[in-house]
Amino acid sequence: AQAVDWERIRADFPLLTRAVNDKPLIYFDNANTAQKPVQVVAAVDMFYRRHNANVSRAVHALGTEATEAYEGARKTLARFMKVRGEELVLCSGTTFAINLVAYSWALPRLKAGDVILVSRMEHHANIVPWQLVAERTGATVQVAEILPDGSLDLDALDKAMTPRVKLLALAHVSNVLGTVNPVREICRQARKRGIVTVIDGSQAAPHLPLDVPALGCDFYAVTGHKICGPTGTGALWARRELLEAMPPFIGGGEMIKEVSFEKTTFNDIPHKFEAGTPNIAGFVGLGAALDYLDGIGMEAIRAREGELLAHLTEELDRIEGLRIFGTAPDKAAVVSFLIDGAHAHDLATLLDLEGVAVRSGQHCAHPLLQYYGVAATLRASLAFYNTHAEIESFVAALLKARRLLG
Ligand code: PMP
Repeated sequence: AQAVDWERIRADFPLLTRAVNDKPLIYFDNANTAQKPVQVVAAVDMFYRRHNANVSRAVHALGTEATEAYEGARKTLARFMKVRGEELVLCSGTTFAINLVAYSWALPRLKAGDVILVSRMEHHANIVPWQLVAERTGATVQVAEILPDGSLDLDALDKAMTPRVKLLALAHVSNVLGTVNPVREICRQARKRGIVTVIDGSQAAPHLPLDVPALGCDFYAVTGHKICGPTGTGALWARRELLEAMPPFIGGGEMIKEVSFEKTTFNDIPHKFEAGTPNIAGFVGLGAALDYLDGIGMEAIRAREGELLAHLTEELDRIEGLRIFGTAPDKAAVVSFLIDGAHAHDLATLLDLEGVAVRSGQHCAHPLLQYYGVAATLRASLAFYNTHAEIESFVAALLKARRLLG
């Protein structure tokens, strides 16, 4: 493979050139949302300047152009995930995608005595919908525990997959620990026991080449804004039989074939699940984002981020009193940590004064922080457009912040 010119890549991101508090911005909050290359901004801009119309409704030229652009984005995302477009429901993001599974697949099927298994490291988006379903069906939510290094306890998980378990909800990559879970092997075990698997790919899609069919899961959710696309874009992939067997979740225009007051027939999948006017411009932008990532290559991105992660981890390991949460061997470029005697929010506030954007808090993963017995962590999450020089500056700013806090 040809070497990537990372400096040239970085120049595609206009926001990264701005200053914050009179310092050059260091954006290390990529797990929260990623920055957008100028190609994405231009695609959205061009859509509104030249092609704006609603999808699948009008026969006029603009309507056709808008529909082609929207459906083109579906094809691009399908290629990115190595799945078929008709099995890909476009929606506003992972949160919607998981709720779609919860309300449309789980709610009509689960009953008292059934178990929904979720891991300790889930984002609230992969916990709360299951609690809502449990409340309404009498099913219970049980927890697959982790080990102190932030990897899943695979023996415990194996034991937890009892005949009562109907559904396993699991992150492909943890947004706090960075852990890459062995999803393929876990789904194989789940399948043998008839357990349906829902994989939250929010933090995997930005960092790894995706091959969803190879994982052997039943549902896979992604969110567009973490892969350099606009906010309010995302998708749920599911096998055709599952989608066909599921009732619609949201009703309205676009998702129907025929409507009368006596009986309504629904559109084919995936449109059956896409009621109302979608985020058309957003998906046009997402298509451009995926073309952009494809141009670099997800393998190259993984390798680059692996180097950045190794550098950051090495620097942080040198700091006395600093504890990293999540040291599993297979990790994405996300580092959560604390420094003895310094509050995470205080450090983050002082880092902001130095132009550094990191997240402090519980990262929408309260049960995970409860496991570690801490109220908050600092999280530095990297993207391929970050640099080794930024890591050096970040560490210097962190040491300065700690000195200031005494
Ligand atoms: N799951 C994980 C692991 C996440 O990191 C996030 C975003 N922080 C979500 C789900 C929710 O994604 P969204 O807000 O885009 O729906």
